[in-house]
Amino acid sequence: MHCQLSTFSIRLPEVSPSPSSPHTPSTIYISLPAITASLKMADNKHKKPHAIIIPYPLQGHVNPAVHLALKLASQGFTITFVHTDSIHYHTSKAHPNTGLELFAKVPESGLDIRYTTISDGLPVGFDRSLNHDQFCAALLHVFSAHAEEKVAEIVASGEDVHCLIADTFFVWPSKVAKKFGLVHVSFWTEPALVFTLYYHMDLLRLNGHFDCPDRREDAVNYIPGVKTIQPKDLVSYLQETDATSVCHQIHKNCFNDTKNSDFVLCNTVQELESDTISALQAKIQFYAIGPIFPNDFCTTVVATSLWSESPCTQWLDKQPIGSVLYVSFGSYAHVTEKDLLEIANGISLSKVNFVLVLRPDIVSSEDADPLPVGFKEEVADRGIVIPWCRQKEVLAHPAIGGFLTHCGWNSILESVWCQIPLLCFPLYTDQFTNRKLVVDDWKIGINLSDKKVITKEEVSYNINRLMYGESEDEIKNRIKELKKTLEDAVSPSGSSEQNLSQFIKKLMAKI
Ligand code: UDP
Repeated sequence: MHCQLSTFSIRLPEVSPSPSSPHTPSTIYISLPAITASLKMADNKHKKPHAIIIPYPLQGHVNPAVHLALKLASQGFTITFVHTDSIHYHTSKAHPNTGLELFAKVPESGLDIRYTTISDGLPVGFDRSLNHDQFCAALLHVFSAHAEEKVAEIVASGEDVHCLIADTFFVWPSKVAKKFGLVHVSFWTEPALVFTLYYHMDLLRLNGHFDCPDRREDAVNYIPGVKTIQPKDLVSYLQETDATSVCHQIHKNCFNDTKNSDFVLCNTVQELESDTISALQAKIQFYAIGPIFPNDFCTTVVATSLWSESPCTQWLDKQPIGSVLYVSFGSYAHVTEKDLLEIANGISLSKVNFVLVLRPDIVSSEDADPLPVGFKEEVADRGIVIPWCRQKEVLAHPAIGGFLTHCGWNSILESVWCQIPLLCFPLYTDQFTNRKLVVDDWKIGINLSDKKVITKEEVSYNINRLMYGESEDEIKNRIKELKKTLEDAVSPSGSSEQNLSQFIKKLMAKI
């Protein structure tokens, strides 16, 4: 495929008022795209790779995908970035000042990123979090048709497009890439360990650790590149005895699809997971290029949050250094009302200062205030409760001394970057496996509880152990070392930068 470099057009979404928006009648939403502006290319002598990037429509996937787009664009790529209408709707609603063009500021930095949106098959206002299975069913059965139509449209516009970078959890990218003669790059936003567990799910099934009525309870020791892992540390879906759910179908189909990809890019660091990565590299073109953060850790030119960010810097500025526990369960996981009560009462009992992020749907979209009665008044002098924040800014604040986390992979990378020890409370999916890496392998955190049922006394005890306990220094030293590993990896001669260069070289050879 040839790349003609002359004047390129930049795609901006066509904007129309939503007559049927279920939330805010005045809200503006994106319909199918239209071309409205143009961008001049600086250099028409060199081949400029053009990639379409389609992130999985969840916060934890959107964030690294946006930063990957910026990273590749700064390496000379042209990027067409595709959000779902729903992600666009929520992001622009959360950032009213940004307006409708989330990537509007990008051309100012000289990068070539065009932006467009597609439907995921469900109405924009549909509550995806509350109706997880229906959402997954749409992604499994319907989304591919919209994605294929969009790729066809971009290719038909006459531009040379070379590759499709799509989240590994999609079930269709290799087929779509093949149809349009594109190189398929699978983008994995979780650790390599989690990737390899899914990749070897047939082996887990064959050995009786997954998808059989009497699951084995002994350690798994046959996955290439993984010494041993206990069944409780497998991804939640791989701990199940029945694999017929819609999510299991997604996992089966997406990993079959990924096995046909040309490259896998992973938001991890070679040195953190070297055995696992080496074993994978014997089978597939797997590149660890993380942590994928913006150049300036706390700020980015592109809005990514799906909820508006409540300010808390002024409050944090008034707290002593290292005295505040930051508590967040990420963007999608739900906590049971019972566990939330124990955690809130445990925080109260601990007497530690805190920032507690509680999404409005943390228990369920139908239970708006699940905190214990009187909690907010009781702790008003030492804590704040907010629905969403700029997490990276909070973690980077000197007042923060610990992070009670659900163990989302982005949260872990961000916490290591800021050298904040972790108190782990995994809820589902990869979070159990991520906890193992944090607590058992890297020793940069402790468990919130070692039992299934948590109590406020245990929560309080472990909060104090994390913030002021004897092992605190050990954890801090380990996390300092890990931060250095991350920093080194993204330095010009570091493994992630070298891996990215290798990937680009091989990609260019292919196109
Ligand atoms: N995040 C944020 N503000 C919050 C909570 C989370 O900006 O109040 C961001 C966080 O920095 C991270 C992402 O949302 O980049 C959550 O991703 P993660 O993988 O940690 O968890 P997930 O939401 O996917 O379960």
